[in-house]
Amino acid sequence: MIANKTMLLMPGDGIGPEVMAEARRVLDWLEASRRASFRIEEELVGGISIDTHGVPLTDAALAKAKAADAVLFGSVGGPKWDKVPFEIRPEGGLLKLRAELKVFANLRPAKVFDALVDSSSLKPDLVRGLDIMIVRECIGGVYFGEPRGIETLPDGTQRGVNTEVYTTPEIQRVGRVAFELARKRQGRVCSVEKANVMESGLLWRQVMTRLREEEFPDVTLSHMYADNCAMQLAKNPRQFDVIVTGNLFGDILSDLAAMLTGSLGLLPSATLGARETSGRMPGLYEPIHGSAPDIAGKGLANPLAEILSLAMLLRLSFGMEEEADAIEAAAARVLAKGVRTPDIALPGRSPVSTREMGDALLTELGA
Ligand code: NAD
Repeated sequence: MIANKTMLLMPGDGIGPEVMAEARRVLDWLEASRRASFRIEEELVGGISIDTHGVPLTDAALAKAKAADAVLFGSVGGPKWDKVPFEIRPEGGLLKLRAELKVFANLRPAKVFDALVDSSSLKPDLVRGLDIMIVRECIGGVYFGEPRGIETLPDGTQRGVNTEVYTTPEIQRVGRVAFELARKRQGRVCSVEKANVMESGLLWRQVMTRLREEEFPDVTLSHMYADNCAMQLAKNPRQFDVIVTGNLFGDILSDLAAMLTGSLGLLPSATLGARETSGRMPGLYEPIHGSAPDIAGKGLANPLAEILSLAMLLRLSFGMEEEADAIEAAAARVLAKGVRTPDIALPGRSPVSTREMGDALLTELGA
C-alpha cells in the first residue's frame, strides 16, 4: 500500500470543480479499498483565487504545490475574468505554477478507446488501437526565446521578432523523459524538428542522437521533420510510439494528435520536471480541456479527462501501475457499454450527467 504521498488538488473554475469532484471519488475509492492512503490538500487557483485573494495563485498555494508529491489540476478561466488586468488573469496562475514547479516536459497521450473509433476524424481502420505519447518541451523554444518583440523600423514599418533557441541541457532533459517513457512502452522514440532549415533543429538532432548512444542504446531512435510528422500523423498515426519535440512543433502536433481521438473531454496530460536525487519528480496533471463556461454548473461535463489525468499521476508520480491500469480499463469498459456524457453521446441513447459517469466508473472499479 502506498502511504503518505501528498497530493494537492486545484479544481479551479468552470467545470474544474465538477470534474475534480469525480476524480476525488476515485481517490476515496482507492483509500477505502486500502490500495493507498494519501495526504490530500486542496487549494484555489485561477478566477476563484482572484475573487477570494486578488491573485490567481497565492504564495501559500504555490508553497503547497511545491511541497506536494504531485498536483492534480482542474481548469481555469472564464468570461467573468475577461477584463481583469493581464498580469493577474486566471491563466497566469497555471503558467506561474508550471514555471515555479520547473516542469518542462508536457506529456499528452493520444489513445483511442475501441468504443470511440467512430468519433475520430480519421477512418476507423487508421486509428483503431492508436496509442501515441507526445512529449513536448514546454518552457523553452520560440515562445520564450530572446530577443523578442515588435519594433518600428526607420522607414516606419514594423518588425515582429521571436527567437527559437535550445541549449544542450534543455534538449537532454526532455529527451531523457521521452527515452524513459519509451522503455516502458514499445521502445521507440521519434524526435521531431526542422534540422533541414533551422540550426536549433540541427543541434536538437545531434543531441538526441548522442543521448541515445550514451544512455539509451536499448531504445530505437528515428528523426522526422515536423512538417512530415504532421502528414504522417494524419496518414498513418499508428507508426508512432513516443514523439519528442520542442515547444512550437509540440503545441501543434499534440493538438493534431488529440483530434484523432475524438473528444476533448477524454484527454489527460502530465507535465513533469527533472527527477531529484531523492527520486521525487515534480508532476502537474491536468485535463487538456479548459473551464468550458458554456456547460459549467449544468452537470454536463465529461469527467473522464480529469480521472484519466489522475491515472497518469498514479502511474508516473507514484509508480502505481496496477491502479492506473484499473482506472483506464474501467473507463474503456464504461465507454464500451455506451455510457456517455453529451460530448460523446450516441445517437438514440440518453446521455448521462457528470455524476452518473463517475458512478458508472466506480461501479466498474468494483466500488
Ligand atoms: P474549453 O476546452 O473550455 O471548451 C471548448 C469546448 O469543449 C466547449 O464547447 C466545451 O463545452 C467543450 N468541453 C471542454 N471540456 C469538456 C468536457 N470535459 N466535457 C464536455 N465538453 C467539454 O476551451 P475554450 O472554450 O476555448 O476556453 C474556455 C475557458 O477555459 C477560457 O477562459 C480559456 O482561457 C480557458 N482554458 C483553460 C485551460 C486550462 O485551464 N488548462 C485550457 C484551455 C482553455
